[in-house]
Amino acid sequence: MFTLLGNGILIDPFNNKVIDNGGILYNEEGTILGIDTTDNLRKKVFELTKDEKKLYLKIFDVKGKTILPGMVCAHHHFYSSFARGLGIKNYNPKNFVQILDQLWWKLDNKLSKEEIYYSAIVALIDCLRRGVTTVIDHHESQSCQIGSLEQIKKAVDIVGLRASLCLGVSDRYGNGIEGLKESEDFISNLRGSIFNIKEKSVYDKRISAGGIINAMLGLHASFTVEDKTLKEVAKLKEKYNVGVHAHCGEDLSDEEECIKKYGIRVVERFNNYGLLGNKTILAHCVHIDEKEMKILSDTKTNVVVNPESNMNNAVGCADVLKMLDYGINVGLGTDAMSSDMLSTARTLFLMQRHIKQNSTIGFVESVDMLFKNNTKIVENIFGKEYNKFKVGEYLDAVVFNYIPPTPVTENNFYGHLLYGVLYSSVDTVIVNGKILLKEGQVENFSEKDILKESRVVAEKFWEKF
Ligand SMILES: [Zn+2]
Repeated sequence: MFTLLGNGILIDPFNNKVIDNGGILYNEEGTILGIDTTDNLRKKVFELTKDEKKLYLKIFDVKGKTILPGMVCAHHHFYSSFARGLGIKNYNPKNFVQILDQLWWKLDNKLSKEEIYYSAIVALIDCLRRGVTTVIDHHESQSCQIGSLEQIKKAVDIVGLRASLCLGVSDRYGNGIEGLKESEDFISNLRGSIFNIKEKSVYDKRISAGGIINAMLGLHASFTVEDKTLKEVAKLKEKYNVGVHAHCGEDLSDEEECIKKYGIRVVERFNNYGLLGNKTILAHCVHIDEKEMKILSDTKTNVVVNPESNMNNAVGCADVLKMLDYGINVGLGTDAMSSDMLSTARTLFLMQRHIKQNSTIGFVESVDMLFKNNTKIVENIFGKEYNKFKVGEYLDAVVFNYIPPTPVTENNFYGHLLYGVLYSSVDTVIVNGKILLKEGQVENFSEKDILKESRVVAEKFWEKF
C-alpha cells in the first residue's frame, strides 16, 4: 500500500524547493518514495507497481495547505512543564544563579516519578501540536534521579515522537554519582534491549505508539560539576560513543567561576576532558569568547542557542553570526520557554537585529539554523537524516493550516515561514509515516484525559511550594 500526501504547497527548506500542488509518496513502512507534484506522484505509483490490480493507493488530500518537514527542538526541558502558572513565595531573584536557586533547582528537587511522567507527556503533546517531531531533552530531577529517564521514555512512547533523552548530572547537592548511574543504566538498557551492539548509537525501532528514543550524557553546567564527575562522564562517553548535552556560558557567572576555580574557560575545561565532538551539544554559549569558538569549530561541537530564554533570564545575547562565521553548527532550542520552533527562529533574528542595531542581519541564518543546522544535529546524534524530505528516509512531516495570500517561491518562502506559517495552527503531523495528529486531533490517545490528569498532578505538586 502507498500513501500520497498531496495537493499541498510543499516547502522543502533543506533543498530550497517549493512545489505547488506538491506531495510526498510513501510506503507502509513510512519510507519516502517520491517528492514531486501530486500528478507526477500518481504516475509514479503506476510505475512502481506495474500491475494495476495490485495497486492500492491511499490519498491524503491536504487541500492546498502547507507541507513542511517535521521540525527539531534541539534543547528542551520537559521537567519544567509544571512551572506554568506556579507561584513561589518570596521569589525575588537578583541574578541568574538566584533564578536557578529560587525556581528551577527548587522545582527539580521536588519532582516525583509521576510528576516527571506528566511533565514530559504534556511537553511532548505541546511539541506535537507545534509540528516538532524530534526533541532533544535535558532532564533534571535531583529529588528523583533513579528511574527518571524511564518515565520520560514512557511518555515519548505514547506520544510517538523522536527524542534524545539525558539526565543533567550535577554535584550541586552531592548527587553527581547517582546521576551518572541513572545515565549509564538508561543508555545500556536502551542499547541492550534494542541492539545488543555497543557501537551503534541509533535506536531506530518503533515501540508502542511509535516513540523513537536515543540517549546522550547530560551535564548541568560547568559551575555545578566537579572534576571527578567530568572524568566519569568522559569514560562513559568513550564507552558508549554518545555525545554530551550541557549548558555552557549561559550566564557570565559560569565563565567567571571556571576561570576563578580552574584558571581556564568553560569550553577549555570541557575540551580538556574530551567531552566535545560532533555528537555533543552545548546549550546557550552566550558568554564564550573567540578562543572558545575556535575550539568548538575545531572539534565540530554543536551549539544550540535559546533566544527567548536568554531574554527572559536577562543573561545576554549569543553572538550567533560570529559563531556561524567560525563554522560552528549552531542550532536552535527553546529551553522550555515554549515548543514553538518557528517563533523561536523569528525571535532569534529580531534579537540579533535589535542587539546589533542592524535591520538586515540574521533572517536567513535563523531559518537555516532551524531547518538545516538542527537537522544536522539530529543526523550526528541519531545517525539518520530525519527531518528533511529525502527519498529512502522515513517521512516526518507537518501540515500547517496556511494557505498563502501571496505567491510562494523558492526565493521567498523564508518570509512566508517567519511572517505567516508560524501564526497558523498545525493541522497534521506524521512521524515515521505514521499519522500522530490529523486535522487538529491527536490520533493515538486521549489528549483531553491526559491534560485533565496532568492538572490534578500539577496542583498537588504545587502544594510542595
Ligand atoms: Zn536549558
